[in-house]
Amino acid sequence: MPTNHQLRLYNSLGRRMEDFTPSGAVTGIYSCGPTVYAFPHLGNMRPYVFADTLRRAFRWRGVEVRHVVNITDVGHAVADSDTGEDKLEVAAARERRSVLDIAEFYTSAFFVDMAALNVMPADEYPRASGYVPEMIEFAAELEAKGFTYQLPSGLYFDTAKDPGYGELAQMNAEGQLEAARLEHVEGRRRKTDFALWRAEDPGQRRVLRWDSPWGWGAPGWHLECSVMSMALLGQHFDIHTGGIDHRELHHVNEIAQSQAYLADGRPWVRYWLHTEFLQLGEQKMAKSAGGAPRLADLTEAGYHPMAYRLFLLGSHYRSQLDFTPAAVEAAQATLRRLVARIQPLRPLPPVETLAAAQAMLAAGDPVAARLLDSIDAAIAADLSTPKILATLQDALRDPDITPGGQRIVVAAADALLGLSLATLESADLEHRRAPSELSDEELHAIEQLVADRTQARKERDWPRADQIRAELDELGVEVTDTPTGPVWQLR
Ligand SMILES: [Zn+2]
Repeated sequence: MPTNHQLRLYNSLGRRMEDFTPSGAVTGIYSCGPTVYAFPHLGNMRPYVFADTLRRAFRWRGVEVRHVVNITDVGHAVADSDTGEDKLEVAAARERRSVLDIAEFYTSAFFVDMAALNVMPADEYPRASGYVPEMIEFAAELEAKGFTYQLPSGLYFDTAKDPGYGELAQMNAEGQLEAARLEHVEGRRRKTDFALWRAEDPGQRRVLRWDSPWGWGAPGWHLECSVMSMALLGQHFDIHTGGIDHRELHHVNEIAQSQAYLADGRPWVRYWLHTEFLQLGEQKMAKSAGGAPRLADLTEAGYHPMAYRLFLLGSHYRSQLDFTPAAVEAAQATLRRLVARIQPLRPLPPVETLAAAQAMLAAGDPVAARLLDSIDAAIAADLSTPKILATLQDALRDPDITPGGQRIVVAAADALLGLSLATLESADLEHRRAPSELSDEELHAIEQLVADRTQARKERDWPRADQIRAELDELGVEVTDTPTGPVWQLR
């Protein structure tokens, strides 16, 4: 029987691989969540697919987890700065909708993408706007402890009072690494000092505003993560995750204010895990006017969300990854071959943990036992999803594995990969043509048929409507009727 491998994770705090052992019965994980002012793009998905892999790794090992992902619906100024308008308020003005409508709309869009990518829901999704009184209390405590100073533009954290400031970013004492990126704020003592409270400009009334000891305004962006994580996971917890762009500023500031607040001489959070960038490169997918491509652009172009997930898992989370349509195309082809190979093995056994897989495995299948051990070793080695994928391929090729052992190894790999290998159908992975690949004549003909069918349905001429649907079917067009009218897509 395979043995457990010690779980090792790369801790950004100290930049080294470390053994991970849970500090208590439940392992708290906090992941910095989306600022909900626009559709999330493909690069935004990578940290959440990573956090999902982390959760699957803990489930695999039988470790209970409590996972919190925040929703930033207030407080995030444009360009990550400390002053000026919120991203949400700018979006609301642009789209002529209320700030809360905007937040709700893009929060839903985020959840749709998470579900499509088979990311397990977090235990809590706290909204920043729901915790403003707690943030004010937190900032008042920092003020009482002497860590702050007030300017007309708000209440600032005085980074000179924190000798360990910037340790996570490995910046020098003056914060020189980051200083160039930060904007000028009148009266700020050090460039690294950051806003805990952003006071409203006298001439510019904010849409979402709260009264505070420092005047009307809104919390600084960094504050919400300290306050909400402590409220939901306790003052200290085990793991904080986020994109690598947070390592140099946002997380540095979260640590500074949290450790000043707690003042107990202990590190606030033990492990900081960061996902590398997804480079979107020059090759922009069509559609999102000017913006980066979204998951919906991929599905529109004929790719399955699981192909995108496989593309992400094919590289280690700490490697930079270049997004190209060709790479996703290749991932979809790989997934199609995997599913075709796995379909005859179904139903797969319900395996979520190493213990369950080991218990199911009959004695006398040394190949399956060895492969299961490889999977466990791979996930324990800083979540090496590429190695798990390679082991999955080995399991499908090995002539000496038993069919029962093969089923268990495939199910075990997918418990960690989350590619829905037990249920995906080959047909779902056929490349659909995108409407943009059609000629103008073809497009016109299809739209005419769809319009004719709508008219026939309006006239309750069902035989005619059915006949047109059959014609569309022959052209490879699928029509779905929705409350707002028919939508069609190519097969
Ligand atoms: Zn955060």
